[in-house]
Amino acid sequence: MRPETLAVHAGGEADAATGAVSPPIHLATTFKHGPAGERVAGYEYQREGNPTQDRLEAMLSVLEGGHAALATGSGMAAMSLLLDSLAAGSRIVIPDDCYTGLRVLAQEFLPQRGVTAVLVDMADLAAVKTAAAGAALIWAETPSNPQLKIADIAAIAAIARDAGALLACDNTFATPALQRPIALGADVVMHSTTKYFGGHSDCMGGALVFAQRDAFFEAVAHRRHVTGGILSPFNAWLTLRGARSLHARMAWHCRNASVLAAFLADHPAVEVVHYPGLPSHPGHDIAKRQMRDFGGMLSFRVKGGRDAALAVAGRLKLITNATSLGGPESLIEHRASVEGPTPFSPQNLLRFSVGLENVEDLIDDLSQALG
Ligand code: PLP
Repeated sequence: MRPETLAVHAGGEADAATGAVSPPIHLATTFKHGPAGERVAGYEYQREGNPTQDRLEAMLSVLEGGHAALATGSGMAAMSLLLDSLAAGSRIVIPDDCYTGLRVLAQEFLPQRGVTAVLVDMADLAAVKTAAAGAALIWAETPSNPQLKIADIAAIAAIARDAGALLACDNTFATPALQRPIALGADVVMHSTTKYFGGHSDCMGGALVFAQRDAFFEAVAHRRHVTGGILSPFNAWLTLRGARSLHARMAWHCRNASVLAAFLADHPAVEVVHYPGLPSHPGHDIAKRQMRDFGGMLSFRVKGGRDAALAVAGRLKLITNATSLGGPESLIEHRASVEGPTPFSPQNLLRFSVGLENVEDLIDDLSQALG
């Protein structure tokens, strides 16, 4: 079956007890034992696993082309779960442009276990290769947050294989509707399902999808069971529901974003637009090869520096000035303002989660805000 069909049907078998077409939400924290203390239907306690979460994990595995998945309470819970599963003293390679949370983990928390991170420009394959020697894991995030850098997943997978390192890929921006890292050689795919999977800005969640159901997967699953960073059944259900329309929404997000990227690239108040769909983007050819379309995220730099960028964000009327991404409503934020005391993002950069509105209304709002 083709991906759009799988997104509609995976993990969606009618409820065996009632025939209900929409899956039930199993809120039970505990499951009755059989007469010999055995599990009746494979479940014992919600922290270890539950039927609603199983449906979500089945869907995530199928869409990403993996063999196992673990849902977590947020994207950061998924990221921490994976990185905390590496041996103490490991070295990892992370992108120089990535979600702030990964950088904070690498700066503040991983060193507590002797895990060190090297920041590398993932577009520079020679630098990735040098950094990969002796590393336990390479982390790719493509397109990256917030500068929409593109990493060549297949090339980095080959480097990781040669170095004996795992390749993990944050696929939050692209989603499997546009990019499938496991088919390109990644070992683990990570998601903030809070974003496009949930799709409605109302449901936190995260996930890891594994290329293999192997001993490493079992160790990470055991860690989640014991440390407890699970997803609630209600959020699993909402995420599953969101995924049913993932492909349709992504197509509209992509269409709007490509129109807006071209509009912004031509605007005299804009210094540069970061969108992999623009032929001028340095990663355009790689994105064209490894992505089905270029996504609903872009960022742009406003001429005149920080104050000019903040003023543009402040003048928006339809587009909401807020953090996060992947919902139906368009959001723009001044990224450096939310990155803590030492922001990495350029001060004149605005990140834009292009929503599902009519693109002409978005252009009208941007036009009046840019002046
Ligand atoms: N990865 C990316 C690319 C993100 O944009 C985010 C959040 O914005 C995360 C991970 C973290 O996800 P969450 O906020 O669900 O913890």
